[in-house]
Amino acid sequence: MEFALTPEQELLREEIREWARREVQPVADELDAQGVYPLEIIQDAAARGYTTLAVPREHGGMGLGMTEVCILMEEVGAYSPIVGVSLITILQGQTMIRLFGSERTKTSFLPRFRQGFISSYALTEGRHGSDIRSLDTKAQRVGDTWVINGRKAFVTSSSAADLFVILAETDAGVSVFLSERDRPGVSFATPERSETIGLRNGPHMDVCLSNCSVPLDYLCGREGAGVRQAVEVLDVSRTGAAAISLGIAQAAFESAMRWVMHRKAFDRMIFDFQGIQWKFVDIRTELAAARMLIHQAAWLLDRGHPAIEEASRAKIYASELATRAALFGMQVCGANGISVSAPFGRYLRDAKAYEVAGGSSEILRNTIGKRVRKEYEGRAPEWH
Ligand SMILES: Cc1cc2nc3c(=O)[nH]c(=O)nc-3n(C[C@H](O)[C@H](O)[C@H](O)COP(=O)(O)OP(=O)(O)OC[C@H]3O[C@@H](n4cnc5c(N)ncnc54)[C@H](O)[C@@H]3O)c2cc1C
Repeated sequence: MEFALTPEQELLREEIREWARREVQPVADELDAQGVYPLEIIQDAAARGYTTLAVPREHGGMGLGMTEVCILMEEVGAYSPIVGVSLITILQGQTMIRLFGSERTKTSFLPRFRQGFISSYALTEGRHGSDIRSLDTKAQRVGDTWVINGRKAFVTSSSAADLFVILAETDAGVSVFLSERDRPGVSFATPERSETIGLRNGPHMDVCLSNCSVPLDYLCGREGAGVRQAVEVLDVSRTGAAAISLGIAQAAFESAMRWVMHRKAFDRMIFDFQGIQWKFVDIRTELAAARMLIHQAAWLLDRGHPAIEEASRAKIYASELATRAALFGMQVCGANGISVSAPFGRYLRDAKAYEVAGGSSEILRNTIGKRVRKEYEGRAPEWH
């Protein structure tokens, strides 16, 4: 069992940290205030190969894996989860194509990500969020095309995406399709709900599909196997999302630590009050635990193993830790922590959004619960 990153991965972390400090940190608050897509940063990231870390070399990517993606997400998440979530929807699109796309879509779309191509992942609908098995969006085969009709909600990166991954129901069941932004029949709506309090990389718009016709090989994988495929891709993006949450938690910890080592009350540093110090130690322990859960899931994914439970628990743990760390930081910095000039409000909003986006904590607990139940079914107690 190896706990250390390789020298190349350490170097990548340093390089990304430096880039994020220089390019992302200065604009993080402004991006959040405006709620806009960080287009220039994503284009810069693409030119550096950061958006294609896990794309194979033969398709124009860096040929690395999820461990490197998690390094990227953690470093970026510490400064701007908005940039992080923008990278996640790119990861989702390219992973769906990499794992399930036709040869033609792989050759045509994957190399474009290096040029700043952007994708979105459209699963949720107004009437169905957690339950992606019931969809109102339908696709029908008409001659040599698929014709898609329906409406997707809360689609992250939709203001900038060039390509959409769309979950729709056919006669054979839920299936996955691709569509470019500029196809006839694709339009957008920005209902009030599309503006969120966290992960504000532009409005999470509704994508409306009205007789949108796509080529037959824009069906990804097998017709009717869409839920399994979408979940497989979510295992990848949930691991990345967990790394963004870890970045938020780490940033909250550090912001609070610096404050309590500087601020005094009753002639003592705030950190030296034992009740407070122990909480910092608990969060530090949890940061280490979250990092291990994330890297374990990444390790499995990189070796082609299923990681549904590992990715789920990494996301539950890291996203809830980020919320706890943001709230603790706010409390321990007193009135200054509550101030709008403190970073904790933004940490909290982004952390909370990730307890829902990409699979809520409840749904992920259900996923793990089902597996635990199956594992223990029929086992009699040994102590009775
Ligand atoms: C910032 C943000 C970005 C998003 N980006 C995208 C995106 O890019 N693409 C996309 O497709 N969707 C996106 N979503 C939508 C997100 O995936 C859904 O919000 C999520 O799946 C939950 O669905 P819902 O909101 O409809 O909640 P509902 O399904 O209505 O559930 C409401 C509450 O009930 C709980 N619940 C539901 N069923 C169960 C159950 N069986 N057991 C226990 N509890 C349950 C849920 O966990 C939740 O807390 C985004 C959401 C947010 C907030």
